[in-house]
Amino acid sequence: MTKQSVTRAVFDEVMVPNYNPQQMVPVRGLGSRVWDQDDNEYIDFAGGIAVTALGHSHPAMVATLKEQADKIWHLSNTFTNEPALRLAKKLCDATFADKVFFCNSGTEANEAAFKLARKYSYDNVGPEKHEIISFEQSFHGRSLFTVSVGGQKKYREGFEPVPAGITHLPYNDIEALKAAISERTCAVVLEPIQGEGGVINADVEFVKAARELCDQYGALLVFDEVQTGAGRTGSFFAYQKYGVTPDILTSAKSLGGGIPIGAMLTTDKCAGSLNFGTHGSTYGGNPLACAIAEVVVDEINQPAVLEAVEAKRALFVEGLEAINAKHHIFKETRGLGLLIGVELVEQWHGKAALFLAAAREQGLMMLVAGPKVLRMAPSLIIPDEDIKQGLAKLEAAIESVINSEES
Ligand SMILES: *Cc1c(COP(=O)(O)O)cnc(C)c1O
Repeated sequence: MTKQSVTRAVFDEVMVPNYNPQQMVPVRGLGSRVWDQDDNEYIDFAGGIAVTALGHSHPAMVATLKEQADKIWHLSNTFTNEPALRLAKKLCDATFADKVFFCNSGTEANEAAFKLARKYSYDNVGPEKHEIISFEQSFHGRSLFTVSVGGQKKYREGFEPVPAGITHLPYNDIEALKAAISERTCAVVLEPIQGEGGVINADVEFVKAARELCDQYGALLVFDEVQTGAGRTGSFFAYQKYGVTPDILTSAKSLGGGIPIGAMLTTDKCAGSLNFGTHGSTYGGNPLACAIAEVVVDEINQPAVLEAVEAKRALFVEGLEAINAKHHIFKETRGLGLLIGVELVEQWHGKAALFLAAAREQGLMMLVAGPKVLRMAPSLIIPDEDIKQGLAKLEAAIESVINSEES
């Protein structure tokens, strides 16, 4: 069977316009390099939005994918399977968690987390304890419940009415949290670093205060680590870096390294509220996805690999500072590990997307986080040489944007 030839133009013809992809079509990748239909080469600082944690076509992932493909792909949760059991054990061994629920995305992991938080309070206190506190600019996914808990109004607009009982507070504001939390609060939900919201780090004091206040009011602390988890920040999960343990943690993105999977991790104390029949997913925990995520966990959760994430960050920061010394275009570098956000100086606010397109023209795949922040979330094992070459491309892209704005 010959395949139909397709181009970027076909996207506008047949795809719902909720995305506006860059003007090229990538066709293959290896490590932190990607090639498009015309065989142009790109260095990948985007990492599929903090997903391809081991780069593209990692040999151990490919080998496991092929091996599992020959064994069994899917069973449904009427039956359990070996890869899911092994992966769950590894996640429990590596974290605070006693129990794991598998699904297929970050949104689904958060949906499970928020439902569990409500159900746990319903079971243990009563239906009035259902309020969820979350934070401005936060992002938790695109289902109706997760856009409602998320702190970006634009993602809710036009989709109302949304679920009730959700409050959004300023992030990193301990006093606001103290004033808002009550006996009616069932959960406080936060990202240790707000990814989509602009790569904004939580203050350690804020996270500690959230833990104390949750304990005081019998609320569950939920960490959305969909973007910060699975080694991204240089520890296996960011909560370990903050030294504050949540009751529920969600993971996806890097956990699958490119295969769709999500996980909700929790304690024995909470897990009982998702008792038989209360929640589920057809694909969740399928053997194919779990087998590959197991490879990702094995490869990433090693001291040497996590330490190298810190060293690679240092290379990025050094390079970004050198660019800034020449062009005075960055206000601040944020994030942890290989979740890197650079806020542009005031003059360039609203124009981050210009740099994305210019980077693509230079052969660099990058991200933004809102209209004023450039974001990088590459493979956790990106070669140092690719970092250097990618930063040179970034500098060329910045120069081209500056020149075209001046002319
Ligand atoms: C990406 C992201 C999500 C949503 O994950 P999907 O896999 O796109 O559903 C949720 N929370 C955070 C913090 C994210 O970065």
